[in-house]
Amino acid sequence: MPFLIVRATGGLGVLNAPRRETIVTDLPGDRWLVTLEGEHDLTTAEDLREKLRAIFRTGTTVVIDLSPTMFLDSSTLAVLMRAEEVARENDCEHVGLVVPKDSAADRLFALVRAHRMFTIFQAVEEAFAFFESASNDPGMARRWQARKQRIVKNEQAFRDYNDRRLQHEAVDADDDREPIPFVCECGDPDCIQALLITAAEFTEAHSAPNRFIVKPGHVYHDVERVVADNDTFAIVEKHPAALKQPQ
Ligand SMILES: [Zn+2]
Repeated sequence: MPFLIVRATGGLGVLNAPRRETIVTDLPGDRWLVTLEGEHDLTTAEDLREKLRAIFRTGTTVVIDLSPTMFLDSSTLAVLMRAEEVARENDCEHVGLVVPKDSAADRLFALVRAHRMFTIFQAVEEAFAFFESASNDPGMARRWQARKQRIVKNEQAFRDYNDRRLQHEAVDADDDREPIPFVCECGDPDCIQALLITAAEFTEAHSAPNRFIVKPGHVYHDVERVVADNDTFAIVEKHPAALKQPQ
């Protein structure tokens, strides 16, 4: 397989020696943050593999931050995929990737359709909040695993799940202060992205039975239209024909 190469625009100039650092931060509560700075390729892949292996010996939740990554190649991607595989095989281990929109990593992932292989977040805090919530809620953890294993595949199921989840949250449905992680209700059965929204926003989004709350851009225009949109989420409304169940 040829190496796939993506360079960030405005990359490092000739005067700057490329930095290539894998920074491991041990956070309270068995949480680990792994930050990939600079350029990552075959020369750094083994180091990353070793570091992830060491974390998995003790750790439970690993968030890999690719936002400061200027460059990564397919050998690095392979190490990340292996880490995801290990996590998928072990219920107690979680791996999340921070891949901000339009970052170098985002462009590589788009090229090789890698987004669906990982649990992707836009920010480190969002990732840890999601895993914390999942670990406090066995139902959510199970549900999330099920989604990863592509067992359950429709938007209504995710909508229902989010509804049940809200009922079990110890919050008022009108609470507009504390963001809570919900799962994206888009039509992509492999989407495992989280939405951090308040209970009030969630309740408002579900004001009609044909409305679903999704990540921005997770819209299928042939079956739905966007009724509201912001940086965090979009609300889509299904066309009536799309809701009809096949007989
Ligand atoms: Zn989605």
